[in-house]
Amino acid sequence: MKLGCIADDFTGATDLANNLVRSGMRVMQTFGVPTAPLSSDVDAVVVALKSRTIPAAEAVAQSLDALKWLKAQGATQIYFKYCSTFDSTPAGNIGPVTEALMDALNCKFTIATPAFPDNGRTVFKGYLFAGPVLLNESGMQNHPLTPMTDANLVRVMQAQTQRKVGLIDHTVMALGTAAIEDKIRQLESEGVGVAIVDATNNDDLKKLGPALKNMALVTAGSGVAIGLPLNWGLTSSAHASALPKAQGYQAIVSGSCSLATQGQVAHYKAMGLPSWQFLPMSWSAGDVPTQIKADVAKALAWAQALLAQGPVLIYATTDAQTLQQVQAKLGREQASAWMESALAQVSVGLQALGVKQWVIAGGETSGACVQALRISQMQIGEQIDPGVPWCYAPQHEAGHLTLKSGNFGTPDFFTKAFNILAGAGA
Ligand code: ADP
Repeated sequence: MKLGCIADDFTGATDLANNLVRSGMRVMQTFGVPTAPLSSDVDAVVVALKSRTIPAAEAVAQSLDALKWLKAQGATQIYFKYCSTFDSTPAGNIGPVTEALMDALNCKFTIATPAFPDNGRTVFKGYLFAGPVLLNESGMQNHPLTPMTDANLVRVMQAQTQRKVGLIDHTVMALGTAAIEDKIRQLESEGVGVAIVDATNNDDLKKLGPALKNMALVTAGSGVAIGLPLNWGLTSSAHASALPKAQGYQAIVSGSCSLATQGQVAHYKAMGLPSWQFLPMSWSAGDVPTQIKADVAKALAWAQALLAQGPVLIYATTDAQTLQQVQAKLGREQASAWMESALAQVSVGLQALGVKQWVIAGGETSGACVQALRISQMQIGEQIDPGVPWCYAPQHEAGHLTLKSGNFGTPDFFTKAFNILAGAGA
């Protein structure tokens, strides 16, 4: 193994694995830290944690466990992957995990950049843009778990980091790899431990790649991955993404409330395709878990009658205003935990009904569903949209799945995904 990666959520891990596959690496993604040594011969392993929104100390402990396993498998460089919208709170977890990994690797300097230009995430003068707008105007300011209200990443990172945070700005990036290397040396001599890096296009990331060659730790979104495989002499190859032929019924499970997912749910419904919605505002105080069980049973009974005809959508996705009302009623964390549990139970039920082709929308939602389906690793296949590939999990006959992070994908993502899979079987 060449590159060892630690991702702070499951969809983010897939997004990174996807970019590595497209740049020529054979990649395996694991859910959680494996207990056994690596069995297949791959160039990179992405260990997917669910550490984005847990207490910082737990995120640190899990990340260090992953580091230990990856180093034991021979990883020569470590990549800490977080969301391209830099999802975090002033308590972390990006800063604390970065620092813990730096300490463990005796690494004095690292970079931090969520830039992913293919997906509209660009960093300019240290400010993160999501599409045409600043991060804090993109809808992310209303995120249920990690509301992002400041687009200045130097400030955001400094708020959760002991080390001094600096910036490698666009004027340096324009000059190329040698200038980036000079800037890194200069920042190090000024006592900077972590530098945010501007990147507005893929050329920036390709210039950055060689400058990271000897860095023990890289921290980034998934974009930086496109410049790394070349450091090991690897270039794009098509067969790395081949998957077995798809079988079984199709289902979409959506717990993401991001604007893109709201659009995808609306688009799917507008096509007249079948959907069933969880309405947590209808849960009365008292025994919520029992009410969830009843809802899950209703959703599954509804799905059972329809699965033979094509994909079904079961969702909790809602608009920001309704989400706020639910959170005010049930509490933010409790509402999320209950909703994730409901969708995880739905997944288990759908699997029993014969579903083997899954679209799962939402980072936390994917984590909950994949855990419930007892999937521990998967092979990365063809890309559906930037950052979102089809994957194949042979364990427990789980089949093919795509884990879609909230803001990813075009409005027709749900139907497009199944169309691509139907045409993609090897
Ligand atoms: P994204 O990738 O868009 O951030 P996530 O699944 O990571 O999506 O996060 C969305 C969170 O919101 C999850 O914890 C989910 O359970 C919760 N959620 C989804 N729908 C609702 C709802 N209707 N009411 C309350 N919470 C919800």
